[in-house]
Amino acid sequence: MADCLFCNIIEGAIPSTKVYEDDVCYAFDDIAPEAPVHTLIVPKQHFASLNDDVPADLLGQLMARVPEIAKIKGIDESGYRVVVNTGADAGQTVFHLHVHVLGGKSLGEHVL
Ligand code: AMP
Ligand code: ZN
Repeated sequence: MADCLFCNIIEGAIPSTKVYEDDVCYAFDDIAPEAPVHTLIVPKQHFASLNDDVPADLLGQLMARVPEIAKIKGIDESGYRVVVNTGADAGQTVFHLHVHVLGGKSLGEHVL
């Protein structure tokens, strides 16, 4: 989608710090990190949120990438938190489905 921030990041029209990429997804560091490691994983196909009839196999593929991306960021052994904000009450600000991967320190109960 032309007016979607994360679609533009995936296409390289807006710069990002790339962590990982394959046919299904693109991962990059969050511009305003809430933890020493804060990486976002986005599907290359645009879905606004978890409410957007996302195919189950795509959700599985995104989650299956998390351990590999955590390993690239050096937090697979120390641990990490995975967050998918959905809608207003969760504070979702970018309406292109994304998975937050947070770690690099001991996380409290309220990270996002
Ligand atoms: P959410 O609040 O779950 O919608 O998360 C959106 C995330 O996108 C926030 O953590 C922002 O810091 C992050 N973000 C916004 N713009 C950019 C950008 N240009 N590059 C990287 N991360 C961004
Ligand atoms: Zn998009």
